[in-house]
Amino acid sequence: MNAEIICVGTELLLGDVVNTNAVHIAKGLAAAGINVYYQSVVGDNPQRLKDSIRLAFKRSDLIVMTGGLGPTYDDLTKETVAEYFGRKMKLHQPSLDHLNEVFNKIYSGQYKKMTENNVKQAYMPRGAVVFDNKNGTAPGLAVTDGNKTAVLMPGPPREMVPMFDNQVLPYLSRDSKKVLVSKNIYIFGMGESAVEDMLHDYMLSMDNPTIAPYAKTGEVYLRVTASANDKEQAEEMLGPVVDKIQNLLGDYIYGIDVGNLETAVVRKLKEKNLTVATAESCTGGWVSKQITGVEGSSEVFGCGVCAYANETKIKVLGVKKDTLAHFGAVSFETASEMAAGIRKISGADIGISVTGIAGPGGGTEQKPVGLVYIGIDSKALTETLELTLSRGYQNERDHIRYTATLRALHSILRAANAF
Ligand code: ATP
Ligand code: MG
Repeated sequence: MNAEIICVGTELLLGDVVNTNAVHIAKGLAAAGINVYYQSVVGDNPQRLKDSIRLAFKRSDLIVMTGGLGPTYDDLTKETVAEYFGRKMKLHQPSLDHLNEVFNKIYSGQYKKMTENNVKQAYMPRGAVVFDNKNGTAPGLAVTDGNKTAVLMPGPPREMVPMFDNQVLPYLSRDSKKVLVSKNIYIFGMGESAVEDMLHDYMLSMDNPTIAPYAKTGEVYLRVTASANDKEQAEEMLGPVVDKIQNLLGDYIYGIDVGNLETAVVRKLKEKNLTVATAESCTGGWVSKQITGVEGSSEVFGCGVCAYANETKIKVLGVKKDTLAHFGAVSFETASEMAAGIRKISGADIGISVTGIAGPGGGTEQKPVGLVYIGIDSKALTETLELTLSRGYQNERDHIRYTATLRALHSILRAANAF
């Protein structure tokens, strides 16, 4: 089945809102084995919307649309699709009941009263399959004629995402006897092109399971997907492929199906019964923020110091005045003493420090913007890393601070692994 995505909304067209719906839908359809050949955005204009639908159905069997299901006069997606299929609109009683319930329960006593145009949301083209909306008022729907299907969902992502994942995808996969199972392999310290280069021939030689690389800021992950008759069979097919990739990439892999670096850190520390404490200068607490963003991190994290000023580095962390005077705040020596200091005052198993020059100003020839030191202090591993982080990104300061944060998290993982 060939599909395309049409997102409706003038705000998308003008660049006021980022089209995250298309990203989510495209990934979901691809994972379900449905080919997406086109994506488009159209404003809230009935004629252009009609043209887009006509064009899309000339080349695709399935159109997945979002937006324009609201109660106002410019929300016209449903009416336009009904017209395309030549279907009359008909009241869908369960949707009206839901609307009444929402307005009675949630909005009762408030200024929001159900108005005549809200009732429009309960009207559906004849023969439509309706997807209820637990997170809003506009239901979604699918209309089919022969081999052409249009799926319509509300625009707000918090309504669209659960509807798509829990109702639309199962609906679209209802005839498929196959299950798709994926494993995500998370990689750190290797760029996307290096990963692709290493696995290129292997990736091309595979059609089931498939291997697809994805890049996030500062890291890469590979998704390996098997299509099989059942989950067990898929797992059996995935096993050897994941093993082979692990052999090829070795220590560059920090986890499988773990989601992100900070979760891998917290899990590893728990597994080894270790604790960590942070002393951060240029990252301003970002490392501790990432760690504490993981549920259950209180078992492994007790203390983080944001030691931005030299005075704090001396008073709180015990960095020597002489060290700062001789080598400066951004130096190998200061980073080492910060890591040792935070470990000492916190009693944690691992002390980690970050000090660097995030820019845009403040760099010199000897100490340019992007120079970052990361100190690790523990019984199993004590070392300090000097990093020259890449420059030229649009929001350079944040980019440097974020990549330094990722490197620090990865260092904690390495230290934990050394125990
Ligand atoms: P509503 O009842 O809120 O009007 P709707 O189905 O008519 O729902 P829209 O009016 O098109 O949806 O969009 C509502 C809001 O949802 C937009 O202002 C925007 O913030 C967000 N939104 C819409 N489409 C997208 C999209 N493709 N990606 C991300 N956000 C979106
Ligand atoms: Mg709207």
